[in-house]
Amino acid sequence: MTDFLQTSKAFILGVAFIIMAHIGLDYSAARWSIPVDSVQYSLPVLFAISLLLPAYFKQARISFLTIIVSAYYYLPETELVISEPQLYLYGLASLAWLSMITERGVFSGHAIKQVLLLAATLAAAYLWLFASAKLQLIWPKLSGDVSSVYLPSLIVGCVVLWRNMAQPSLSQTAVLATYLIWCIAQFELVVFNWSITMAILCCYYLLVVIVNSYFLAYRDELTGLPSRRALNQYASTLGNTYVVAMLDIDHFKKFNDTYGHDVGDQVLKLVATKIAKVRRSGKAFRYGGEEFSLIFPRKNSEQVMAELERMRKLIAHYKMAIRQLNRQGKQDRKGSKVTTKTVHVTVSIGVAVHQKQMSFDDTIKIADQALYKAKKAGRNRVVAA
Ligand code: GH3
Ligand code: MG
Ligand code: MG
Repeated sequence: MTDFLQTSKAFILGVAFIIMAHIGLDYSAARWSIPVDSVQYSLPVLFAISLLLPAYFKQARISFLTIIVSAYYYLPETELVISEPQLYLYGLASLAWLSMITERGVFSGHAIKQVLLLAATLAAAYLWLFASAKLQLIWPKLSGDVSSVYLPSLIVGCVVLWRNMAQPSLSQTAVLATYLIWCIAQFELVVFNWSITMAILCCYYLLVVIVNSYFLAYRDELTGLPSRRALNQYASTLGNTYVVAMLDIDHFKKFNDTYGHDVGDQVLKLVATKIAKVRRSGKAFRYGGEEFSLIFPRKNSEQVMAELERMRKLIAHYKMAIRQLNRQGKQDRKGSKVTTKTVHVTVSIGVAVHQKQMSFDDTIKIADQALYKAKKAGRNRVVAA
């Protein structure tokens, strides 16, 4: 759910970027007589970059998106005789296909399967056009636009939206944003200058690739929290007044041994969501394994101790519902037998206040020693150095 909220935010930001870029360019063109139309000459280079860069970063979906939009841009200029509804429908079908594939490198072993799926979606689009023409002969009252444009747009919209919810990712939001532009253009809600729209779309795709790569490098995949690398970078931005807390889940090895590693992973995620709630006063990171770091800039020891004590209690009292594969359980939709169980975990926390003469690493070490004391004193407690 949090993934979905984050990607929804990314989608809104992406669409806002596309709209603002259009408005900005229109305004500049009118105000300073900038010949924005000449942007078309830079398009081959832009298309090439937004095709190759994502491919290099193994973000094939964005490369394919670039192929689709560039085909939409250049195909009408070629000798290929392709009608507008055909072009629109093939574009829609390709977007639906793109939202359904699993993202791997462009030249991965799954390429053949993906190409076959694309061929099937394009064939479906062709058959749809064929069937809608026949349907109109039988039922002349039915408007051609409804069967050949509106209905497929609605179906593809549902598919793309469903994939965004089922498998939220930044590249899926790029597909959704492109779909939106595609529909707006087709229904002539806005008349685009395609050269400018294509240039803006390429910039947007490149932004998606950059932000995605940033998240891959600086976010912990399991918990969604910033990683240790992000912590080290964040440390360089800190002033002299801050408090560091090191948090470690108690007896987690035993927990894994009892319930299995997958349940352990679910618990790590749940604990991380509680820790992330510290956002208003500090920042949480996954330090490694079942250890987390919390940094509280411009806070004193009393404020932080009170906040951490609240967090410790919250986690200790939190009933975590976990799903476990089981021989005796009810079958879920995929046919596996699952049971739901409620479990508890506790955490120990060590706290250190940064002193002027100390480095960040020294402060972490002192917080670690306090954590060790909390463990020795019986766990499930907060100890200040
Ligand atoms: P203590 O109360 O002293 O902290 O005991 P502990 O068992 O939590 O500590 P220990 O360091 O002995 O074990 C940590 C365990 O955390 C070992 C490892 O299996 C588990 N662990 C580390 N990373 C992950 C992970 O990503 N997923 C899961 N499921 N387990 C992890
Ligand atoms: Mg540990
Ligand atoms: Mg532990």
